[in-house]
Amino acid sequence: MKKLIDIFFPKKCINCQKEGSYLCEDCLSLIDVNPFIYCLCDKMEKIHKCEKCKHRYLDRIYSACSFKNSIVQNAIHKLKYSYIKELSIPLSFLIIKHLQEVSCLIDEDFVIIPVPLSNKRKRARGFNQSEEIAKIISETTGLKLFTDCIEKIKNNKAQVELNKEERLKNISGVYKVKKDILGLNIILIDDVYTTGATMEECAKILKEKGANSVWGVTVAREIVDL
Ligand SMILES: [Zn+2]
Ligand SMILES: [Zn+2]
Repeated sequence: MKKLIDIFFPKKCINCQKEGSYLCEDCLSLIDVNPFIYCLCDKMEKIHKCEKCKHRYLDRIYSACSFKNSIVQNAIHKLKYSYIKELSIPLSFLIIKHLQEVSCLIDEDFVIIPVPLSNKRKRARGFNQSEEIAKIISETTGLKLFTDCIEKIKNNKAQVELNKEERLKNISGVYKVKKDILGLNIILIDDVYTTGATMEECAKILKEKGANSVWGVTVAREIVDL
């Protein structure tokens, strides 16, 4: 069946239109991964948190690429809005490449948790893009995957439409922890990190339920003046 679909709707690279996959090897190799880490704010740091950010719940953030990279931006957009689930594979590859590049050491007791979507949005899209990426990172690293750990209990506005203060307000109280995560070390997965309001809210509720540490990992980092 899958073959038949491929014949009628051949996969084409979103960047060069070559047939065969949604992001061909050549175009994937054109994408630079960040050889550095950012603080939770937009400082590039050797340490994970600057003086200003040290009291935040999220312990550190790894973002594989710049959202300014047009191939990355296009791939994330097509994954989320054209529902091309398969693009989660090359995007996860970029995350792994970045973690290797910055020599990130992850203890094997870390568990992977995707940032959830509302049930309504997940139903409409058919999948949660962060969960698809989280699945692949889990398969590649051997780290355990915890899905359905955080639930989105309120439908809020899309963060994209809001400024920094509005984002903080809009995300507050939106999520709930549904599983026992006491003492766990957690890697939260999302597609893009912008102001970090979403990750920070998730880290907050996870720590309030007893998580030991919470790291964020995203495909892209967007630096914006909001
Ligand atoms: Zn290509
Ligand atoms: Zn900072």
